[in-house]
Amino acid sequence: MKAAPQAQLRLIDLQELDSSLDRLAHRRRTLAELAEIDRLGGSLTELRDAIVGAETEVGDLDREQRKAEQDVDQVRARAERDQQRLDSGQVTSAKDLSGLQAEIESLTRRQSDLEEVVLEIMERREELEGRVGSLRADQAAAQRDLAALTERRDTAQREIDDEAGTTGSARAAVAKDVPDDLLGLYEKLRDQFGGVGAAKLYRGACQGCHLALNTVDLNRIRAAAQDEVVRCEECRRILVRTPESGL
Ligand SMILES: [Zn+2]
Repeated sequence: MKAAPQAQLRLIDLQELDSSLDRLAHRRRTLAELAEIDRLGGSLTELRDAIVGAETEVGDLDREQRKAEQDVDQVRARAERDQQRLDSGQVTSAKDLSGLQAEIESLTRRQSDLEEVVLEIMERREELEGRVGSLRADQAAAQRDLAALTERRDTAQREIDDEAGTTGSARAAVAKDVPDDLLGLYEKLRDQFGGVGAAKLYRGACQGCHLALNTVDLNRIRAAAQDEVVRCEECRRILVRTPESGL
């Protein structure tokens, strides 16, 4: 392939701009805020699940409490009826009287046990509500962090996009100075070799793979016409000759 030496030199400018664009794209992809936002998203999902779980448990406890309170009422009502019968003087047989008294005592114990259950439920509910409160506080803090991070990410991305826009315009202008066939080869090599398609020959070394060229290759390049597009024998990239090539 042949291209004017000036066009070959423009390829080096193009390479520098493309490398800048690659670095910008890499920076955009790997912003620290992105990983933080991901992590916070995970935390928020866990918090939401924990809140739903705790609130469901509160609902279950409410039902348990209502049930226990109904039991207390029933037992109390029955004890009151027994007490009224006892007080009415209608029950006269000693056996019935002692039976009634035994039942009242048993109902009183039962009522006290049930009231104990109600108290335990209320304590558990209070604990759970405290837990829901602290989960909600964590959730609010995580949401604030997420909002702040999102803003920082957006700002960083805008700055990168602005810089990429400027660099992209410069790149388009430089690309016009490079003939299509050379540009095509350069793009192909850039795809193959990690974004670097063209490199300077600098003091006898390829700036693409950083290896020094051997004498045979250097002599071959010395003998090549100025408009011949030469390649590095090691890395196959386009080698651009400059006054500092050491030829
Ligand atoms: Zn090389």
